[in-house]
Amino acid sequence: MASDLENLRLSLAEKQAAVEKQGDVVRALKASEAKQSDIDAAVSALQALKLELHNASKDYAALSGAANGNVSNETFRKEVNNTLERRFFIIPSFQIYGGVTGLYDYGPPGCAVKANVLAYWRQHFVLEEGMLEVDCPCVTPHVVLKASGHVDKFTDLMVKDEKSGQCYRADHLLKEYCKENLEKDLLMSTEKRDELKHVLAVLDELSAEELGAKIKQYGIVAPDTKNPLSDPYPFNLMFSTLIGPTGLLQGYLRPETAQGIFVNFKDLYYYNGTKLPFAAAQIGQAFRNEIAPRQGLLRVREFTLAEIEHFVNPDDKSHPKFKDVADLKLLLFPREEQMNMKDPVPTRLGDAVAKGVINNETLGYFIGRTYLFLITLGIDKLRLRFRQHLLNEMAHYACDCWDAEIECSYGWIECVGLADRSAYDLKAHTEKSKIELIAREKFTEPKEVEKLVIMPIKKETGRFFKGDARKVEEALEAMSEPEAMEMKERLESEGQVSFKVCTLNKDVTINKNMVSISKTVEKVTGRSFTPSVIEPSFGIGRIIYCLYEHSFYTRPSKTGEEQCSVFRFSPVVAPIKCTVFPLVQKKEFDARATELSKQLTRAGLSCKIDTTGTSIGKRYARTDELGVPFAVTVDAEGVTVRERDSKEQIRVPAEEVPSLLKDLCDQQLSWEEALTRYEIVGGTNTV
Ligand code: AMP
Repeated sequence: MASDLENLRLSLAEKQAAVEKQGDVVRALKASEAKQSDIDAAVSALQALKLELHNASKDYAALSGAANGNVSNETFRKEVNNTLERRFFIIPSFQIYGGVTGLYDYGPPGCAVKANVLAYWRQHFVLEEGMLEVDCPCVTPHVVLKASGHVDKFTDLMVKDEKSGQCYRADHLLKEYCKENLEKDLLMSTEKRDELKHVLAVLDELSAEELGAKIKQYGIVAPDTKNPLSDPYPFNLMFSTLIGPTGLLQGYLRPETAQGIFVNFKDLYYYNGTKLPFAAAQIGQAFRNEIAPRQGLLRVREFTLAEIEHFVNPDDKSHPKFKDVADLKLLLFPREEQMNMKDPVPTRLGDAVAKGVINNETLGYFIGRTYLFLITLGIDKLRLRFRQHLLNEMAHYACDCWDAEIECSYGWIECVGLADRSAYDLKAHTEKSKIELIAREKFTEPKEVEKLVIMPIKKETGRFFKGDARKVEEALEAMSEPEAMEMKERLESEGQVSFKVCTLNKDVTINKNMVSISKTVEKVTGRSFTPSVIEPSFGIGRIIYCLYEHSFYTRPSKTGEEQCSVFRFSPVVAPIKCTVFPLVQKKEFDARATELSKQLTRAGLSCKIDTTGTSIGKRYARTDELGVPFAVTVDAEGVTVRERDSKEQIRVPAEEVPSLLKDLCDQQLSWEEALTRYEIVGGTNTV
């Protein structure tokens, strides 16, 4: 179905382009006052194309709806969220007091899913890649976030409803206006269409003034009240706080976990035996005072991040394990394709790195590992793509950035950011803290390097500048190579030069006999440098929400009277691995079920026992809704094991149940193999 969907998406885009082109033809004919019969013919061709577009849109909507069980995105989302809240996966926080937008609680199954996702993240990244895990405080002093740039730049542009005071993100309003008009107004002129597309492409680059001008030009008003809006102004997303009772130490709740790793670089580097590359990892809460959180769990004000900072020599970003992922074929959406309005294409990772589409092997390696992580959790690989940042989206210091985007009922959502941030962060903290956050490289053989030697002649400078001499000498020694070479040249040709000494805040005259500037060749055995950092940053809440949508489906109950919800969680993420039921309420069955449940827990499998007298069908439906993959039923003849999605059951000797379920949950054994080993009960699709 996915490839059908892709084909339809392509054909829809082609039809849209054909309508636009024919619209231009009609306009040109009218403008040139062409023959009426030619105009009529062109108009009827336009109408035919529009009809085709309309039908293709309907087909596309139907097929994309079918991916969600033939319902609209909104209906599908409502069904998923009803189940999530009813079964207490998630609920809005502080609900008995009316709740606070952008804050959510995870209930018992939600907590278990999150713990499983994080355990698998630790397994897949921290353990398998030998990363160094740290755990730093959420409360962070001002100086750290000043150095990182968050105090000055971690802002979104906000506009206010001038009457009600309601706040909106300025770029979101402009984006919605452009998208809505591009979708709805098929007869819009090509110039207007191009203009709106251009606004969308440069949205992240617009200054407050430019955004304000566009909002005014398009007459955008407050969506809820239609009141006029204020000019956009920056709003810092960090929650500020005061550390300690004096109120003198300003702090913030961290907006990301990465800074805790950067400030510990020196110790981590020594812990790693002063060797590069190495990666540090941190899982923890991050806080962002989002202006207008919408989209449920996707944009919240407190969320869990799992971040990796991989430190690497900037001159060698190869990765020894890149070959392990080079053959993976995944949906890549490079900036070229985005700019040319093309679709993402399945691409071999090895080819993307070889062609320079992905900047380097290490970044490519993490893209591959992220892909494997997400699809093992249960994310649909056809609804997962890696989108490269457009040049205007990237910070000026970044080399290359890609987002893992997952398609859900809200559209394509950034769930993981993968960025090559060059040496920016370590340099910023070195500058502010005056602690050198650097690494040392030992050359295999000593190298000859040219070295600049600036030697003030202190007898002369002292005699001439008296009390200011030391500051003049320091300024001379601090000259960069080009500055020093220019001074040398001018001293040789002119005998003296005027020289600015910042610490004295004045210009002084330097004579030829006051300084010696030369170059020597030295043998060096190594060099110090600031490592580059490659950062994969996982938004755990977003991944979990997309996983809920990709795992959810409904099917008719046994009587066919109602629809039952099911989460097809893999055993890796399922909140409970198995349920144990006595078939009917009977003391003897209860005792055997309790004993079996004890054994399963001892085998390390989370399990839940249900001894209520509810019908077995209802009890199965209850566990299907929690996404429990296996149900164990104790009856007069022994024990059966039922698989959630196929509803098939096998009869298993009681003593073999724990080891069988352990193998199934550890994915050492497939259900199909289990079917061949044990007697199948009552055919298939029993309950
Ligand atoms: P960023 O540092 O902005 O690239 O964010 C890193 C990751 O955090 C993103 O890829 C998202 O998955 C996640 N994220 C960012 N902002 C939010 C938010 N307000 N709510 C939930 N997750 C978020």
